[in-house]
Amino acid sequence: MHPAPATTPAAPAFGKAFSDHMLLARYAQGSWSDYELLPFGNLSLSPAALCLHYGQTIFEGMKAFRRADGRISLFRVADHYRRLCRSADRMCMPHVPEALFTEGLTALVAKDAAWVPEDADGALYLRPFLIATEERFGVGVSEEYLFLVFTGPVAGLYPRPLHVKVEDRYIRAAPGGVGAAKCGGNYGGALYPTQLARAEGFDQVLWTDGSDDLHLEESGTMNVLFRINDVLVTPPLSDTILDGITRDSVLQYARTLGIAVEERRIPAKELVEAHRAGTLQEAFGCGTAAVVAPLASITVRGERLELPPLSEQHFCMRARRYLTDLRRGLLPDPQEWNTIVI
Ligand SMILES: *Cc1c(COP(=O)(O)O)cnc(C)c1O
Repeated sequence: MHPAPATTPAAPAFGKAFSDHMLLARYAQGSWSDYELLPFGNLSLSPAALCLHYGQTIFEGMKAFRRADGRISLFRVADHYRRLCRSADRMCMPHVPEALFTEGLTALVAKDAAWVPEDADGALYLRPFLIATEERFGVGVSEEYLFLVFTGPVAGLYPRPLHVKVEDRYIRAAPGGVGAAKCGGNYGGALYPTQLARAEGFDQVLWTDGSDDLHLEESGTMNVLFRINDVLVTPPLSDTILDGITRDSVLQYARTLGIAVEERRIPAKELVEAHRAGTLQEAFGCGTAAVVAPLASITVRGERLELPPLSEQHFCMRARRYLTDLRRGLLPDPQEWNTIVI
């Protein structure tokens, strides 16, 4: 990592600073310990711990927000918990008890409340994760696990539109595989194609299903949405697509605005044709880290499709403002997506 330049704003860059405490709970002999809040620090693991060899690791990514009234809230905790359970099922790992998850996260964020940024766009990023810790040779389901959560403040950056390449050689997930689980291996496997795309001058890859039609799936580690002819279009959830909570929040918001939403397969050719017809209005990734990441261009088999310049009127920017205001407690929250921590 590069040293921070002298002009860096007060809030540190994404993922470079950690709060004072972390949560730890142990699973052994079929049951969970209570959680402890410990000073943030290194773990001690056997070199034979299964997670270090065979990829039995899963994680979540969520945020705590400073509300306009000064209180702190978590966003869609129950949905993150359910997704952690689904990832655990796919990777043969035990469920973390829901009370441990919810109460533990709340206690951790309350203890490190001073780390939650004050500015409207900043947030405290939370990284819950579960790893297989039994020590033994040989592939197998671990009988021991650690569940940990650590946190760190992140700045909300104004989104810089990204140049992406539709990846037509490598894939991140296959039907029947683990693409829908937030498990470590999905991300390690994506590094190499992403690095190749960067060397060609792109910011990110747009993943496809690897078929001749190149059905679009995700943008880097985000879900991807397009506005074509005033319809918001996104690939349907499947076992190759991560069920993003930002994706779901954005789709629900679009529906409340009366915007037509289609969850269906999107061949890359459709983008090329829509671009030619002048109906490709916007394209963006979405996820907890960036909230929305507008696309500046999409390159399909060497043909570069330029998107219209980003404006505050774009749906993705409206959705971003909506989510920011909702989390800050400035809008009604009928679905109780916010959980007040303190
Ligand atoms: C986490 C993740 C997302 C976004 O999910 P959110 O719940 O919106 O943060 C999308 N795609 C992949 C591959 C992910 O890992």
